[in-house]
Amino acid sequence: MIITLKSGINKKQVDNITKSIKKFGLTPHVSHGAVKTIIGVIGANEHKHKQQLESLEGVETVTPILKPYKMVSREFKKDNTVIDIKGVKLGGQQVVVFAGPCSVDTRENLMTCAREVKKSGAHILRGGAFKPRTSPYAFQGHGETALKYLAEARKLTGLPVVTEVMDTRQVEIVCKYADILQIGARNGQNFDLLREVGQSKKPVMLKRGMANTIEEWLMSAEYIVAKGNRNVFFCERGIRTFETATRFTMDINAIPTIKHLSHLPVIIDPSHGVGVRDYIGSIALAGIAAGADGVMVEVHPKPTEALSDGPQALLPVMFDSLMNEMRKVALAVGRTI
Ligand code: PEP
Ligand code: MN
Repeated sequence: MIITLKSGINKKQVDNITKSIKKFGLTPHVSHGAVKTIIGVIGANEHKHKQQLESLEGVETVTPILKPYKMVSREFKKDNTVIDIKGVKLGGQQVVVFAGPCSVDTRENLMTCAREVKKSGAHILRGGAFKPRTSPYAFQGHGETALKYLAEARKLTGLPVVTEVMDTRQVEIVCKYADILQIGARNGQNFDLLREVGQSKKPVMLKRGMANTIEEWLMSAEYIVAKGNRNVFFCERGIRTFETATRFTMDINAIPTIKHLSHLPVIIDPSHGVGVRDYIGSIALAGIAAGADGVMVEVHPKPTEALSDGPQALLPVMFDSLMNEMRKVALAVGRTI
């Protein structure tokens, strides 16, 4: 439920209200807006306490949240959530750029890639250590060795790193090295994994399951937030449709929809959404124009040596010119990169 407090309420009165909420066995989440203070209330049978909550001093209205997701909803928190990733602010005015190889292969390729994308202005380094592959015979990732290379590349460039965690048993080791935990499209509804990363302290990038509706995706985020980790952001990576000309179909609609329904940041991944090197730039620009808080693109210094997704990787020089294009579009929509 959402409790809207009367204007001009003081801190002591807010504290009294939160104390009463806790007495009912419910959990309050206070947000101070520019005009009003609201308290999101979560708990079992919360609706049973509606009248008691309404009678508390300083309470203006008590409104049930009708959606099946609550804490991630815009009703629960009006202002945008800004996630601080080692000083990189995601969800604010700046469009955050994530770049790097699909999977980490050699140490040398990763260090070259990290240096190049940093030079072009990327903010976060990506790279897979545990890879979800359609074929069990395809390269599955270098595991902890790759995590160590990512940590080394972070030291070299200062870029925070994001990498995928595929299984509850990997959460501990990935947390040891990564700055952001990535939940891949194929695990978008792996509820045990979502609960597990919900108990970690690291920001979580939640990719959209390729066959998930936006509402299902929001509920997946709710699984993480409900466990206590509020630093979650969405990554639209294309959905499966009847179209086969591109790898997936980039759902640009998802960006304004998510921004409307949730306070959490949303980024786009045109590399997987499109899967065709020559089209990735256009869709990256479209995503920024549509209001995405960030863009993630695959970059490789030697795509023919890549152990996954080489054909869709941008060369560093292509990434550099895309950065310039993205800066122009960001500026046109009142943002910076
Ligand atoms: C990835 O970003 O490395 C990846 C595997 O993407 P997705 O889960 O969206 O397929
Ligand atoms: Mn990939």
